[in-house]
Amino acid sequence: MKRKAGQDRSITQHWRPATLAVRGGTARSEWGETSEALFITSGYSYDNAAEVAARFAGEAEGMTYSRLQNPTVQMLEERIALMEGAEACRAMATGMAAMTAALLCQLQQGDHLVGGRAAFGSCRWLTDTLLPKFGIETTIVDGTDNQAWVDAVRPNTKVFFFETPANPTMELVDLEAVCDIARKHGITSVVDNAFATPLLQRPLEYGADVVAYSATKMMDGQGRVLAGAVCGTEQFIENTLLSFTRNTGPTLAPFNAWVVLKGLETLELRIMRQSENALAVARFLESRVPTLLYPGLPSHPQFALAQKQMKAGGTIMAMIVDGGRAQAHALLDALELVDISNNIGDSRSLMTHPASTTHAGLSPETRESMGVVEGMLRLNVGLDDPQDVIDDLDQALTRAGL
Ligand SMILES: *Cc1c(COP(=O)(O)O)cnc(C)c1O
Repeated sequence: MKRKAGQDRSITQHWRPATLAVRGGTARSEWGETSEALFITSGYSYDNAAEVAARFAGEAEGMTYSRLQNPTVQMLEERIALMEGAEACRAMATGMAAMTAALLCQLQQGDHLVGGRAAFGSCRWLTDTLLPKFGIETTIVDGTDNQAWVDAVRPNTKVFFFETPANPTMELVDLEAVCDIARKHGITSVVDNAFATPLLQRPLEYGADVVAYSATKMMDGQGRVLAGAVCGTEQFIENTLLSFTRNTGPTLAPFNAWVVLKGLETLELRIMRQSENALAVARFLESRVPTLLYPGLPSHPQFALAQKQMKAGGTIMAMIVDGGRAQAHALLDALELVDISNNIGDSRSLMTHPASTTHAGLSPETRESMGVVEGMLRLNVGLDDPQDVIDDLDQALTRAGL
């Protein structure tokens, strides 16, 4: 493998995000292929025994086993690191593998974590169920309230964990303020940036320490594979994360890494167009539903913060209808174009009812406390013509009695 321009940081550091999304991390084999090669191999062979011993001893460069390294996966890791402005990145099998690894690799019995209340259902399961089971205490706060983060800090607090915008309530966390509180107390901030991607929001620029992804969402963006990533300093990745992931094995398959590499090539185009489409759809919905939450609209309670830390509103919004689950389900069932689907970040417009899908695993009290009410629907706006999406929503709203 020739580590051509795509991996030489002295060259890539001058490239802008859209260029990095297309070329960052590219390494070419002796064939000089233009598109990234797909290395479907579990292992590697060596010229002699001394060479493999040197690699295992960490004294020689080179790969040893695809649970640990793979050329295609490494291209993806380098590309995401460059786009994020991070020193290093490791790809994971899924977004949840990334979140689990990012937390468990640095926490131990007796530690304390503070988490934002509005979060993806499985992220809340990690903070509410998994971590306490291993003697790691957790406190859940209203992530929009900066003082709540300060008040939750204890002498043994090691990690702040939150997503912004949050799934599905679209609440934002003030990255600069909350990461600053973490820094002052020697706490590591871990940000789940799945909704925004590095093209709309770069948490490291606001003082975050670790940025974790579900690459299943916008990064693949075409509903094909599951993938995840963890970005941070070289020190964090090499010394804290790697021993955990190498020995527990949440490794991304090379094929899935290759699909995400292809996805990243069009990420800038997709996320900007989908954000534009989402804004048009949000403007329409605002006039038709009792509550519409979209960070790109001035009616969002944290619009000023969105303007500060996000480049655009993103592809996702939430709406609340008065008729609870029955009316929300009726609206879904009346859709003709928008798919009923619990995925997001896809190039297709998709809608789901979080209380009975993505957040069904949480108790009704937990859902209530995080604002996932029975009448809430989450909409991902894709690359479909926004007028077709609006027409479909219009007829479905009417049929659902709105
Ligand atoms: C989907 C999602 C995850 C989990 O990612 P998977 O790839 O499905 O494992 C984590 N956080 C957020 C905010 C998500 O939307």
